[in-house]
Amino acid sequence: MKTLVVNCGSSSLKYQLFNMENETVMAKGLVDRIGQENASLKHDSVGIGRITIRSGIPDHSKAVSDMINALTDPEYGVLKSVDEIAAVGHRVVHGGEKFSDSVVIDNNVMAAVKDCVVYAPLHNPSNIMGIESCEKLCPGVPQVAVFDTAFHQTMPKHVYLYAIPYEYYEKHGVRRYGFHGTSHQFVANRAASLLKKPLKDLRMITAHLGNGCSITAIKDGKSLETSMGLTPLNGLMMGQRSGDIDPAVVAAMGDIEKLDANGIVAILNKKSGLLGVSGVSNDMRDIHKAADAGNERAQLALKMFCYRIRKYIGTYAASMNGLDVLVFTAGIGENDPYVREVACSNFDFLGIELDKKRNESPEKEKIISTDKSKVTVMVVPTNEELMIARETRRLVGNNSPKKAKK
Ligand code: ADP
Repeated sequence: MKTLVVNCGSSSLKYQLFNMENETVMAKGLVDRIGQENASLKHDSVGIGRITIRSGIPDHSKAVSDMINALTDPEYGVLKSVDEIAAVGHRVVHGGEKFSDSVVIDNNVMAAVKDCVVYAPLHNPSNIMGIESCEKLCPGVPQVAVFDTAFHQTMPKHVYLYAIPYEYYEKHGVRRYGFHGTSHQFVANRAASLLKKPLKDLRMITAHLGNGCSITAIKDGKSLETSMGLTPLNGLMMGQRSGDIDPAVVAAMGDIEKLDANGIVAILNKKSGLLGVSGVSNDMRDIHKAADAGNERAQLALKMFCYRIRKYIGTYAASMNGLDVLVFTAGIGENDPYVREVACSNFDFLGIELDKKRNESPEKEKIISTDKSKVTVMVVPTNEELMIARETRRLVGNNSPKKAKK
C-alpha cells in the first residue's frame, strides 16, 4: 500500500510517500516559503536522487501540483502514475469538538472542516486547498484527515475552559482545543521509548518550535495542558503570531487604528511574533543573521521568543508538580542550539542542566542534558507524516477502496 501524506503548514507543504508494507519512505519533499519570491520545491526520491526546483509557488494548490509532478516525473519520480497511490492522509489543523479521532474524508467532513476555518484562519484554508487539489489530481483515491486537535481532547474541563460566560462554551464550543497534537504525541512516545520508560510514568513537556509554536504538558501519558487555545494564535511567541496577549488590546488597537476585531486579529496572526517585533522576518534563520549583525530589534525578538518558552516550562512544571523530561522538536526546536540553551537557562531550582557540547552536536536525535541533570532534556525530530500514514492505514486498511469498489 503506497500512502501519500500531505502536511500543509501555513507557509510550507511537506510530503512523504510511504510504502506501508514496511513503513519505508519512497520519496519526500518540502515546498518551502510558499507565497514568497524565493519559494522552492526540494524533492528526494529515495535511492534515485534529489532535485531542487525553483519556480513561482504562489499558493498550496500550485505546491500540490508540483509535488504530484515530482512524484510521477519519468526521470526522477518513483511512481508511473498517480493510480499507484492507495490513499492520501492529510494533516488537518482544527477539528473543533466534532473530531476526537482521524476520519475518512467525505462531503460532511469537508463541510465540518470548513466550519472550523473561523477558528484556524491561517491553517484550515491551506489544508482544504491541499485536500481539494489532491482530490482533483488523484480522483477516487480515499483521503483521510488527521487532526491536530485530537491528542489534546484528554485535557480536563477545568483546564480547557476559559473563565467566560459558560454559555459561550455550551452554545459555540468556545474553549481551548490545542494544536500540533500529532507532533506532541509522536515525540512524547518516541522520547519515552528512547528512555526505555513508559510514557505514563514520566512528567514531560514537549516544545514544538516551528513557524507555529506550542508547548504541552503530558502527565499520565495524556495531554494535560497545551499553550494554544481556541485557535493556534495563543501561547508562545511564533514566527508571525503574537501568542498570549491581553484580549483588551484588540479593542484598544481597533479604536486607535480604526480597524474591526478581525482586522486586529489578522495583524496578530500575520504581522506579529518574530516578524512584528524584529521588522525583519518570520524566519528564525533570518532573525539570527540580523541579530548577529547587530540589529537590536532582532535581538529583542530572539530574547522575547526564548523568555516565553522559559515561562511556560516553569508554569507546566508547576502544574505537574515537577518535570522529568523536556523535549524540543520542529524546525527551531531541532536545529537551533542557541534557542534551546537560552530557554533552558536559570532553571537550577528545577534541576535542568544542559550539556553545551551535546546541545551543539550535529546528531538529530539526542539527549542534551548532563548525566546528572534531574530533568532529561532531549531533541527528538518530529515525524507527523509517519503518524498520519499509520492513521491512514488504520482507517483505510491495506486494500485501496478504489480497487474494492470495482
Ligand atoms: P512549519 O512546519 O510550522 O512551517 P517548521 O517546523 O518547518 O515550521 O519550522 C520552521 C522554522 O524553523 C523557521 O523559523 C526556520 O527559520 C526554523 N529553522 C529551520 N532550520 C533552522 C536552523 N538551522 N536554525 C534555526 N532555525 C531553523
